[in-house]
Order: sequence, then structure tokens, then C-alpha cells
Amino acid sequence: MPLLEIKNLQIEFGSGAKVARPVDGVSLRLEPGKTLCLVGESGCGKSVTALSIAKLLPSPPARYVGGEILLEGRDVLKMSARELRAIRGGLVSYVFQEPGAALNPVFRIGAQIKETLKYHRPAVAHDSEVIRLLKLVGIPAPDARLRNYPHELSGGMQQRVLLAMALASQPKLLVADEPTTALDVTIQAQIIELLRDLRRQLGMAVLLITHNLGLVGDLADDVAVMYAGQIVEHGPVRGVLQHPRHPYTQALIRSVPKIEGAAERLTTIPGTVPLPGWLPGGCRFHPRCSKAQPDCSRRLPPLTELADGHSVRCPLWDTPPLARPALKHA
Ligand code: SF4
Repeated sequence: MPLLEIKNLQIEFGSGAKVARPVDGVSLRLEPGKTLCLVGESGCGKSVTALSIAKLLPSPPARYVGGEILLEGRDVLKMSARELRAIRGGLVSYVFQEPGAALNPVFRIGAQIKETLKYHRPAVAHDSEVIRLLKLVGIPAPDARLRNYPHELSGGMQQRVLLAMALASQPKLLVADEPTTALDVTIQAQIIELLRDLRRQLGMAVLLITHNLGLVGDLADDVAVMYAGQIVEHGPVRGVLQHPRHPYTQALIRSVPKIEGAAERLTTIPGTVPLPGWLPGGCRFHPRCSKAQPDCSRRLPPLTELADGHSVRCPLWDTPPLARPALKHA
């Protein structure tokens, strides 16, 4: 049984003529101990999808209008408030971007981690467990650090503290929503490496939300690419990074800066992601697509299964990309 299975999820905001659907028919599956990376630009619906897993979106304004979110086979959308409290920070933990904003500035970090322990594992809510968790996430001198306030730590250290808090409940699923976006490039790499090590050590599943396809090769088992509220490509990391089929995935890969080789002008994707209430007809990517045909503005392509678990929402999936994408994978 998958740990997480999202089936045809639809989430709406607004009412009347102003209804917007930022998540429109999303289906995802994550096995225990595996990592799924959900990739796309800001405004694609990734974070709304991620927050819905523990039903964290305030409702209203959000409305879950269709689909299922199955966690270990139980539908989150049908859970009582008490059941939801038990899974939040228990079965599922979250790490968000902007660690400085997520930590309480007036409490020492040790006290903040201990609060999480008191709620989920009261029997071990002691300094010794806080120190163990800080050590687990690679904080040096953890017995001294637990008395620090958040402002005394760097951004990378603050993100490690948030990871320690997320791990305090021993979750089976860690949802990391753009955990490296606010950090320097070198620190980003350290946090991704830490996530990979923690996943191996603890055997938990990870759902990584990111706009940067360059980060996923080292961590992901599977990749789902999201655009304008829908999954446009989904498959094993090797297939998606080495043979991307959707023009949006190909464009995302081309826009990742290359370190090796001669200097090249960075490729950008023209235009912006459409707002959920202002979607173009037909294929939602057609105003920005370098391969668009006249028919693309008339028909919304279905997500079509190819081979080896790879699926794509574009009938021109077998035409070659503009330049050969070359992202590494682990
Ligand atoms: Fe581009 Fe047409 Fe494919 Fe959409 S359906 S991604 S516009 S080629």
C-alpha cells in the first residue's frame, strides 16, 4: 500500500464568476521510504497541493471540491478534527522556506523542539532527546546550541533546527516545501544532502517541493512536474531528467545554470504562469510553448501513460527538445 496517494484532487478558492482552481485533477503516489519531487514555477499549485496533504489550507477560503488524499489508505478529506490533529506533525511533518520566520524569536531553540516533543512524544521530552535531534541534523556542539535563540544562528542552522523539530515526532512522511529557497547555494546543497542522509537513516518518505529541477537529481526517486494546477509530466527521475517529454519540463531543464563547459546565456521561459482564475483555453502552456501548434489552443491534452511509469500531457511528446537537456541524477 502506498504511504500517500492523491487521486484527482481538485481545490477551489473564491465564488461565483471569481472561482479559481489552483489544483485541478492532481494525482500522485508516494511509496514508504521513497522521495517524490514536485517541481514547477511559483504559482503552479505545488504548495497548495502540499498543504492539502494534512488539510492545512484554511477552509474557507479553500474548498476541496473533488478527489481523495489517502494517507496509509485513510482519506484525509474525511478525517475528524481530532484525527487531523493526530496526523499533523505525527504521521506527516512539514519544513517550510524562510526558517527565520518559522521559528519563534523569543524562545530558545531547545525549548521550541521540546514543545514539539511534549505534544508527540512526551516520554522523551528532555534535553537529551533535543541534543540527539540537533546532532542528527548536523548541528555542532548541540548541548550548547540548544540554549541559543534563533537570531544567533545562520539561515542554514535555522533550517536544520526546523528539520529537527519536524523529525521530533518521527514522521513517516516529511513534506519539505522549498526548504532551500531562502539559503545560499552552498547551504542549499548541504540541506539537500542532509535530507538524503536522513531519509536513508530514518526510512521516511520525502515529498520535496521545489522550483529548481537542478536540485532533484540527487534526491528524487520520482519527479512530477506541475503547471497551472495540473501534472504535465510524471515519472522516474532518470526518465524525466534524461528524456524529458513535455516542452515545459524541457524548458525548466534548459533554464538550470550549467557549471561545466563554456559560458552560455541563460535560457528563460517567456511569459509567466497564468493565474488560476485566468487560464488560457486548450493546453495551459500553449502561450509560452516553443512547439505550440494551432490545435494546442483548442484542446486540453490528457495525461498519457508512455512506458516505465512515465506519463506526459502533450501529444507532441516524441518530438525532440530544442537542445539536449543534461541534468545529472544520483
Ligand atoms: Fe506545447 Fe501543444 Fe504540447 Fe501544449 S500541447 S505543451 S502547447 S506542444
